[in-house]
Amino acid sequence: MSELSLTCGSLLRKATIAISGESPRLDAELLLSHVTGLSRTSFRAWPERQVTATEARRFEALVQQRVSGHPVAHLLGEQEFWSLPLKVSASTLIPRPDTECLVEAALELPLADNARILDLGTGTGAIALALASENGGWHVLACDAVPSAVELAADNAQRLGLPVTVVLSHWFDQLPPGRFDLIVSNPPYIARGDHHLNEGDVRFEPSSALVAGEDGLDDIRAIVESGPRWLNSNGWLMVEHGYDQGEAVRALFERAGLVAVETRRDYGNRDRLTLGQWPG
Ligand code: GLN
Repeated sequence: MSELSLTCGSLLRKATIAISGESPRLDAELLLSHVTGLSRTSFRAWPERQVTATEARRFEALVQQRVSGHPVAHLLGEQEFWSLPLKVSASTLIPRPDTECLVEAALELPLADNARILDLGTGTGAIALALASENGGWHVLACDAVPSAVELAADNAQRLGLPVTVVLSHWFDQLPPGRFDLIVSNPPYIARGDHHLNEGDVRFEPSSALVAGEDGLDDIRAIVESGPRWLNSNGWLMVEHGYDQGEAVRALFERAGLVAVETRRDYGNRDRLTLGQWPG
């Protein structure tokens, strides 16, 4: 390797050309930062900074894996959500920035300081942990049907020192009895056979976290049908869904007897979540 190829600037330039996808420069910076421990801002301020030959080799190996499609979060073992560094694994969905819209919407609700909150299908624990980080008085329970996801979410809670209890349960099926003031979920909502499942990072995520029947609504239907039995009077149900599912999800909420039903948009201005209140 020549001297020149060992500067941060030249390594990043080469990697950015090799990587395809939506954010090649950002991906390259995250990988180089992971390998060197240097901050992303330092790459801009000091592009001629040299890295060691070992660091350059480790970086180039990660870039090769990114080029063959592996998600950056899997290569780093970590993804930030709501400014919390979360461990990720191949057994769950990688938290998406748009899911932060659920957290924002939840924080706008008039929830008491001792509210009981449930996150169904928590995966890494993202939503539950973000909410717990905002109000230490809330009692946050999270569940997942996949044992390794339960372990991962519990591990994230422990590492971040956040008081979230994580249990194994397929939706409500194995939950201890009780009622909640807010139930949130980012369930699978992609239709089986959707072409997106063969493109990009989702190819490396488990279908158990993505696919929900012929129309993508099987899991949302199950959650909305049972939800009211687990809600306190005036408690809220909130689910993430696909950009084209708002109308169908609102109809499911209304059929289940929820009121004040409303769909909100994500950062890309597409329908992303629906919420409603259980009158009791
Ligand atoms: N928003 C994700 C995607 O389109 C899907 C997440 C989900 O099914 N819950 O990749």
